[in-house]
Amino acid sequence: MPDSNAVVDSVNEYDVLIDGEYREAVSEDRISVTFPYTGERWATVPQADAEDVDAAVKTARNTFENTWKDTLPSTRRDILHQIADVLDQHYEELGRLETLQNGKLIREMEAQIEGLGEWYRYYGSLCDTLEGKTIPVENKNGQMFNYTKREPYGVVGAITPWNSPLLLLSLKLAPALAAGNTFVHKPSEQTPVSALRFAELIYEETDLPKGAYNVITGAASTGKALTEHDSVNKLSFTGSTAVGRQIGQTAGDRLVPVSLELGGKSPNIVFADANLDNAVNGVIKGIFAASGQTCVAGSRVLVSEEIYDEFIERFVSRTSEIKLGDPLDPETEMGPIAFSDQWKKVKEYIDLGRSEGAEIAFGGSQPQRLAGDLFIEPTILTDVDSEMRVAQEEIFGPVASVIRFSDEEEAVQLANDTDYGLAAGVWTEDIRRAHRLADAIDAGTVCINEYRVMSYRSPLGGYKDSGLGREQGQQGLDEYLQTKSVWIDLAGEVSDPFNMDT
Ligand code: NAD
Repeated sequence: MPDSNAVVDSVNEYDVLIDGEYREAVSEDRISVTFPYTGERWATVPQADAEDVDAAVKTARNTFENTWKDTLPSTRRDILHQIADVLDQHYEELGRLETLQNGKLIREMEAQIEGLGEWYRYYGSLCDTLEGKTIPVENKNGQMFNYTKREPYGVVGAITPWNSPLLLLSLKLAPALAAGNTFVHKPSEQTPVSALRFAELIYEETDLPKGAYNVITGAASTGKALTEHDSVNKLSFTGSTAVGRQIGQTAGDRLVPVSLELGGKSPNIVFADANLDNAVNGVIKGIFAASGQTCVAGSRVLVSEEIYDEFIERFVSRTSEIKLGDPLDPETEMGPIAFSDQWKKVKEYIDLGRSEGAEIAFGGSQPQRLAGDLFIEPTILTDVDSEMRVAQEEIFGPVASVIRFSDEEEAVQLANDTDYGLAAGVWTEDIRRAHRLADAIDAGTVCINEYRVMSYRSPLGGYKDSGLGREQGQQGLDEYLQTKSVWIDLAGEVSDPFNMDT
């Protein structure tokens, strides 16, 4: 087993994790994992190929058929609670691994994992109430009994991105296991180590049957092999809308259900009656926390023309105080971008914004005094028009595009003026307006006078091009269950074969 605390003194060589243990991949190609702050390579993982994927899926199928699908709900509940305990015990180590992979702040990654056990406790507890229904049918004059059962699909193939690796995994793994499915996970090629270590800890410290959770590492080709494998019964993906579309097509061809959690271009709307101190902090939280690398980033800031100048002044002033630096330092407020292609993409969008006619009210450059090559200043683009690409396309970096509006009607029109519909923030002290906006905005989540809030109890997902299906809450469990309708004849009479009783 590699020593995951020895980072960055040595390069740890990981294998894939199949059937409860590390196993050498068939493929000899390897992927490097680097610490974005320093650029140091600290781990490598296999670039697994179709043969490795096949081994993981076969193992998951075997565990599903022979163990997990017949495991009593109370046993599944207890095991999910054990997994929660693993997270409680090891959140510091796992949080550090996450920061070393994606460069996000240690205080955010540790806190995320410290709270993650609740997802497993919640879905574990729902095992106790996995109930069907009795349906009052009237066939044969009421002499038929009908009930429904809720059953797992079988093997779930899950693919996740790099920005919050274990959180985004858990939104899938916890309900999928609770429902009785087994699981093959392909984490992002940028952030594979925390998933491997988490799986390793689960097998060391819980009673999860071997093969119920398998991790295969690799890039797009590995993910593609997983989505195309004919023994995977349900697909679950979090990532970009472009890749989500491809996976949706594969799911359509294979006729397997798919859940898609995709990109966003979410509006944060500031009305003239807002508490401006609160609104400025909320807008900053929405776009500069996590260096803008969150799906719900409030990347379009819509501001009432009545307070536009004052808001921009305060927004710029507070942004200028953001402390950039080492993500492992608990005092740091903004870390680097996760990897160099992403850095280039963010920089290109800032340059594009300039050429489209936006003003740079703050930032826009690479700060020189910091380690590594992956920092970008928190950037405020003003005079943005809704038709510009910087107002329409997901940048996934610390770039706020500020757009002015004249009244509530225009604010709603601008809020809905993208292909995305993941989240929105509304800043107003007017309770009636708040409810009107919550109704009018086409997004899966609307926050009033707060931003970037979530709970395992409340559904999360996208309208329009931001996704299909929901994670978290009861609906998150429904994604991993199918319904069987059972009919029982109570009359006990020989029926007429040509009389369809409806
Ligand atoms: P991405 O779509 O490039 O990659 C996501 C995952 O898909 C990675 O594991 C990647 O290896 C894999 N992949 C790539 N091509 C594939 C293919 N053809 N077949 C199968 N798998 C393939 O996204 P990313 O850059 O890792 O993550 C950022 C994106 O994720 C942003 O768009 C962000 O908004 C989105 N995201 C959405 C949510 C949400 O809940 N809606 C949460 C976090 C991130």
